[in-house]
Amino acid sequence: MSTIRFFCIEETMNRKPVNFTPNAGRVSDYFGSHVFNDKSMRAYMTKEAYRSVRSAIDLGAKIDREVADQVAAGMKAWAVSKGATHYTHWFQPLTGGTAEKHDSFFEPTEDGDAIEKFSGGMLVQQEPDASSFPNGGIRNTFEARGYTAWDPTSPAFVIGTTLCIPTIFVSYTGEALDFKTPLLRALQSVDQAATDVAQYFDKNVKKVNATLGWEQEYFLVDSAFFNGRPDMALAGRALLGHGPAKGQQLDDHYFGSIPERVIQFMQEIEFEALRLGIPIKTRHNEVAPSQYEFAPIFEEANVAVDHNSLFMDLMEKVARRHNFRVLLHEKPFAGVNGSGKHNNWSLATDTGVNLLQPGKTPKSNLQFLTFFINTIKAVHDHADMLRATIASAGNDHRLGANEAPPAIISVFIGEQLSAVLDELERLESGKLSPQAKTDLKLNVVGKIPEILLDNTDRNRTSPFAFTGNKFEFRAVGSQANCAQPMTVLNAIMADQLRKFKSDVDALIKNGMKKDDAIFNVLKDYIKASKKIRFEGDGYGDAWKEEAAKRGLNNVPDTPRALDFMVTEEAIRIFEENGVLNRVEVEARHEILLEEYQKRIQIESRVLGDIAGNHVIPTAIRYQSTLIESVQRLKDLFDEKTYKSMAQAQLDMISEISKHVTVIISEKKAMIEARKKANALTDTREMAIAYCDTVKPIMETIRYHADKLELLVDDEMWPLPKFRELLFTR
Ligand code: ADP
Ligand code: MG
Repeated sequence: MSTIRFFCIEETMNRKPVNFTPNAGRVSDYFGSHVFNDKSMRAYMTKEAYRSVRSAIDLGAKIDREVADQVAAGMKAWAVSKGATHYTHWFQPLTGGTAEKHDSFFEPTEDGDAIEKFSGGMLVQQEPDASSFPNGGIRNTFEARGYTAWDPTSPAFVIGTTLCIPTIFVSYTGEALDFKTPLLRALQSVDQAATDVAQYFDKNVKKVNATLGWEQEYFLVDSAFFNGRPDMALAGRALLGHGPAKGQQLDDHYFGSIPERVIQFMQEIEFEALRLGIPIKTRHNEVAPSQYEFAPIFEEANVAVDHNSLFMDLMEKVARRHNFRVLLHEKPFAGVNGSGKHNNWSLATDTGVNLLQPGKTPKSNLQFLTFFINTIKAVHDHADMLRATIASAGNDHRLGANEAPPAIISVFIGEQLSAVLDELERLESGKLSPQAKTDLKLNVVGKIPEILLDNTDRNRTSPFAFTGNKFEFRAVGSQANCAQPMTVLNAIMADQLRKFKSDVDALIKNGMKKDDAIFNVLKDYIKASKKIRFEGDGYGDAWKEEAAKRGLNNVPDTPRALDFMVTEEAIRIFEENGVLNRVEVEARHEILLEEYQKRIQIESRVLGDIAGNHVIPTAIRYQSTLIESVQRLKDLFDEKTYKSMAQAQLDMISEISKHVTVIISEKKAMIEARKKANALTDTREMAIAYCDTVKPIMETIRYHADKLELLVDDEMWPLPKFRELLFTR
């Protein structure tokens, strides 16, 4: 029992819960206490500065330099009162994480003293040395400067002793180098387009916000086990390991009682999150053993995206204090469910109306139907772009693996709303007759509110489902930045709503009444977008066949799915909605391909090391003990007795040899495949080579290593096993 594995087991079994009690009163006493929110802005800023920031937040107005100085002074005073000594621009580069570079407020004065200084200039703009962030070839290394610029629509916050200021990150020449910049542009575009359409129904609407409520799934493993597995530590997931005899088949983990160590972790992270204004509301066990979920109340999409990024960061930090490591990877363990991040999305007006909430009157229901049907049409026309936004090496393991929605994008709306759309589809074209209007009122539009609430059932197999008053994009990966899917969803929605407006206006211009025109256009859209609607089992093979017949794409791997973000139509959407220009889109495409290729490369190297340094030596050591035992039997017994006694062991010896031989030769083949792939100069071709030639070899190696895990003496096996990773708490 000399292996690191037994040390890990001992460590873990001796763990006690790390108690955490907030001791800060009720949640309402400390919610948002570490955020420079409306309340603290009023308290710490001049009236002029406050008004200026408010109109920047509400109306997108610019803040001039002098006012920025006042804002900075107020922000600094508030931050210092919370114990801050440093400040940083906080941004989300295309690496996927968050970035920060702390500077002290402290500045020496000429007379040898020091003051705390924070000017408007420091608030508004910084120039981090950005040469080592991914840029997809936009910047030459000699012109490596990038700017971060303050985003006043997402409030600053204090973590520990640092004031964090949410910013965008752009190159010297103005191209976006982060996730937030295109998101803000898409949100602005959908605001304008949706406001114009909402004004058909209510002239008072001046602004429409996209809303996002994310649900974050994750695994927790003990930090000893995490460190005991090189694949966990380096690739964030188990690259090999036999499934435990008991997995999730009894469904006994989902919504089960939460283990004490985990509850303490959850309480601490909730406390931290709530102080930072992240409105965490829900926590529970998920389907797989050691899998859990957090969900907040939804917020304006930009703030929600920042909050999710911040939350993922917090999770990692707090987990360590409880001797856990958080696994945000989409598929840490083969054989049990992976993790996703549902993106609940809707549009809300500044008059307080959720545009995807069926209303109480026929008029508000026509508004609901308008936004509802336009969403379906947008997803129909640009399903492939949505597919591209959720593509990643990790998510490839989930999509289409019969546990997450498939790689085929479709929309689920439920039986009742399908019936409503079928009814609308049967309308005669042109001006509506009085009879048709009465019918509509009574049987279609008037019926929506009563039927809806209980009946938008949860078809968990759909990647894009309507759930009563919002759409839920379920195919997003657990470690993804929500900004990517949110940028594209809002951009295609903006594009669609603009088209709708021009279609309706054209009919009105030809003398049709507004309501009639809206019905006519909606009817056409229902027809045109029918093939994207699917109410059945998205996991089944029947759907794959049916989808192919309908002409829906099913691209299971990342390098090829990413093609969909650089089609001429995708670039048109990005450009016309002011989200990204061609250069930016192409740079992003390049970055994502490169990231994919690097991740597989790392996984392949780690697997090669583990197979060579852990698995094979252990297998051979165990095989030697068998050989020794067989040898002894031979010495002790006559030929016939020996044969009958030793046969089973002889079989095991040759079985071990068989697996070892395959692993050794496949390991060589994998290195050759990598060499070949690395010699390619085109990034896309290289990513595809990794996908098509390296990944399959990894699977073969894993298969044989997992067989050996079952053959070899448990006491000799060096890597923590799945049953230990998943069931020790
Ligand atoms: P579940 O999908 O787990 O059954 P719910 O449907 O109650 O749970 O809500 C899931 C998430 O949807 C929550 O984060 C919630 O805040 C969010 N949500 C609810 N309404 C909206 C909305 N109008 N816009 C965006 N997200 C919303
Ligand atoms: Mg949900």
